[in-house]
Amino acid sequence: MAKTLSFPTIDDRKNVHGLINLYSLNKISRDDFMRFVANIISKYKIGSFPVFGYSVKILQWYKDVPVIAIKSDIIADVCPSCGSGTNEARYLRTEKENFDLDYDVISLNCLGCGCVYAAKGENHRTNKKMKVEVIK
Ligand SMILES: [Zn+2]
Repeated sequence: MAKTLSFPTIDDRKNVHGLINLYSLNKISRDDFMRFVANIISKYKIGSFPVFGYSVKILQWYKDVPVIAIKSDIIADVCPSCGSGTNEARYLRTEKENFDLDYDVISLNCLGCGCVYAAKGENHRTNKKMKVEVIK
């Protein structure tokens, strides 16, 4: 039986962060990104895996492909690390759908500095236009 760890090592946190960056740069597929991250965080018996200013967790599995949720405490308008706009970030996932608001919470990976953060993404549930643009 594999040893179960209780708190993420700095190397594993770096590895998760690195995988997100590789995916954003199209170096690995979305499925591989999700699988590799799941392999790392499955070593720990914690619900939510802290990385750098955000946390990841396995939300559910579709057959053998996990869905990795990414959560930041702060919803930012621009990259909280380098100030680049959301149009210079890779869209990762819609993390929270707001059915009563005109935006969803999305996770982004800044292509300028690699920071992972949450932002508001227009959800077309009202006619109001928001300035947020995401690269899909
Ligand atoms: Zn940045």
